[in-house]
This record gives sequence, structure tokens and C-alpha cells, in this order.
Amino acid sequence: MIDIDKIRADFPILKEKVNGKPLVYLDNAATSQKPQVVIDSIVNYYTTINSNIHRGVHTLSQVATDAYEEARLKLQQHFNAKKSYEIILTAGTTHSINIVATGFTSLLNKGDEIIVSTMEHHSNIVPWQMLCERTGAILKVIPMNYEGELLMDAYDELLSEKTKLVFLNHVSNALGTINPIQEIIDKAHAVGAAVLIDGAQSCPHLKPDVQALNVDFYVASAHKLCGPTGVGILYGKEEWLNKLPPYQGGGEMIKQVTFEKTTYADLPHKFEAGTPNIAGGIAFGVAIDYMNEIGFDNIAAYENELLAYATKKLLQIEGLKIYGTAKNKTSVISFNIGDIHPFDIGSIIDKLGIAVRTGHHCAQPIMAFYNIPGTVRASFSFYNTFEEIDALYDALVRAKMMLS
Ligand SMILES: *Cc1c(COP(=O)(O)O)cnc(C)c1O
Repeated sequence: MIDIDKIRADFPILKEKVNGKPLVYLDNAATSQKPQVVIDSIVNYYTTINSNIHRGVHTLSQVATDAYEEARLKLQQHFNAKKSYEIILTAGTTHSINIVATGFTSLLNKGDEIIVSTMEHHSNIVPWQMLCERTGAILKVIPMNYEGELLMDAYDELLSEKTKLVFLNHVSNALGTINPIQEIIDKAHAVGAAVLIDGAQSCPHLKPDVQALNVDFYVASAHKLCGPTGVGILYGKEEWLNKLPPYQGGGEMIKQVTFEKTTYADLPHKFEAGTPNIAGGIAFGVAIDYMNEIGFDNIAAYENELLAYATKKLLQIEGLKIYGTAKNKTSVISFNIGDIHPFDIGSIIDKLGIAVRTGHHCAQPIMAFYNIPGTVRASFSFYNTFEEIDALYDALVRAKMMLS
């Protein structure tokens, strides 16, 4: 069960006013808000233990290193990685994807194939296009239906012994569709391909078990799950992380440096060149603890109620059309009202204190599929309320009246 009053009290920003109105924050798919414990963790780090990690013999450096490595252990436990060093701390999902995409440059040959889906975030399209340019590999795309579900028959046909990699988001940020990743992973493995799952949008709502999934790489950003910006994870199976060359050279990632030859550090440090976001990594661990205390089953159950309520309520508005009606989806509603431009709706309801996203949501191929310039996207988190959905509804009715 969700104790909504208690939870809302944990998030100081929810007491803020925007344009003179109480903030109704419905842009959670872009970034989540931060509870006080996460904010405190960042302040405490800089106030009491700030120092560089893995380097000094002095006490503070060791305290900071321990706190940072403890966060890694929490993440290992959360994602159920077999080894703690399979959790690479990165700057976020985009950084994690680029580590893998760049690393595969030396592992691919001309004519090899990479499969992505129509509903990818740009950060899960562009790095693969760049990889194809470097290697001569070919990008194949899994199509989707009008509901926003992947066409699995088409996926079966794309797979062959030429397939080397499959990259897919677990949940679409623009539509909320939860993709059948277990089937995708198993079928890719059957032809010998590796799989990277982009969990940026799924991790706020569910708890993935990377060993049960048997996934090769899984990536996520802290800022979408109550943590700070500029930190994220790359989970990789040990065998794959050993195969990939390092992404960046620098301090911390070496064993020995001479001008003749440098040897690389063991995992995870091989992929963690330079001074990382230490405060951010520690706060990521605190955020994961916070969400696990509430419980992901409770979070999903409550968000599903919000989604059902909002879907029913918004569809009462004449001319409102929802994009992405997959049977299995998270609490995201992408919509338009008649032919009103999404930006105009977003601007008007912003004046009423309501924060939603408008535009293509970094997923232009989806907008091209529906032949629309963009959508209004309301995305709900476990700290949102039914009253906030009512406020969204009232604001949309008003915006529609003003704009039509
Ligand atoms: C947000 C998001 C990203 C990018 O995450 P960053 O934190 O900006 O690197 C990638 N994929 C999906 C599905 C997302 O929702």
C-alpha cells in the first residue's frame, strides 16, 4: 500500500508553487523528483566526507571510497548482478549505451546486422547508426502496430546468423509500452546475438533481475528513479565487459602505464576513467534504498491505478486521442486534442501549474509512424494523486476551449 501523504511529504519540491499555482508535476518520464533523503545525502557528502576515491590513504578518502562502493553493492543487489564489478557506474543511460556501442567497433565486421526497434529513444538509435558507419554493419528495425506494440513475427524474420546485436528499450518513453524483452532476449541468443536493454524508462516502475533475464547489458539513469542527474549504470555480463575495450583512457582505469604499453585495470575500473560523480553515485544508492522501502510492487500497483483513472478521465474530452494503447504499459499517456498543436496545450496548462512534456520526446520515428508533429505526454509517478489528474483534466478542458 502507498501512504500518499507520507510519500508526498518526502518530496520538498511538491510544496512549491509554479506561476502562482501549486505544482502538479506530470513530467516524470523526463526526470523524477528527489526525496529529502537523496538531497540530504548529497549535502552530507560535500559537508562531511568530500574527497577523491580509490586514491588516498587518508581517512576521508577511504570513507568516501567505502560509501561509493557501498552504493555499487546496493545496485548489484537491486539488479541482481552476479558480481559487483559487473555494475559500471556511468554518467547515465546515454553514456552507458555509448560505452557499449563504441566498444563493439572492434567486434563487428562489414555486413553484420544490428537490430533496434521503431520505438527507440534517439540515444538508442544514433550511437548504433554511428557504429554502423564505422564498421559497415547494417541497422534493421523491428516495426510496431498502431497500438504501439512490437511486431514479433517481423522480429523473427529479421533474426539470422548475421545478427550480432539487438538493442531495445524495456519501456518506451514516448508510449509507455512494456516490451516483451524476455522473448526478445531468448530469440536473440538462439542466433548467437548479444542484447542490450535500455532500462531508463522501466526502472522507475519495476525491478529488473538481470540474471533471470539472462541479458548481456542493461542500462539506466539515476535521475529517473529519484536519484541525481549525471549518474547511471551499465550492467554487463563479466564475459562481455572483458571482451569490450575501454571507452575512455585516463586515471583510475589503468594497471600500469609506460610509454611503450599501458595495461588496463580490472573491472569495473576499466570503464571508470577519471574522477566520477562521487556524490551522485552515493545518492543513487540512497534513492534505490528509498524506492525499495516503498516497494516496487506497491509502486506498480498504485501507478496502474493512476493510469487507469487518467485514461478513463482524459478520454471524456471530446477529440482527445491517446497514442500508445498497448495492453502492457506503464503510467504514461501520450495524446493530442483534435488538431491543436501539443505545444499550445502545454503552454496553457503550464500557466495553471501543470508540468507535462510536449514534442517528439526524443523519438521522432514514432511521431513519423503516427504522422504527427508530436504529442502532449503526461507521465505519472507514485507521488502523484488522483486529484492531480482531475486538475490536469480541468486544465485541458480550459485549454481546449481557448484554442478551438
Ligand atoms: C531518458 C531516456 C534515455 C536517456 O537517458 P539520459 O539520462 O538522458 O542519458 C534513454 N532511453 C530512454 C528510454 C529514456 O527514457
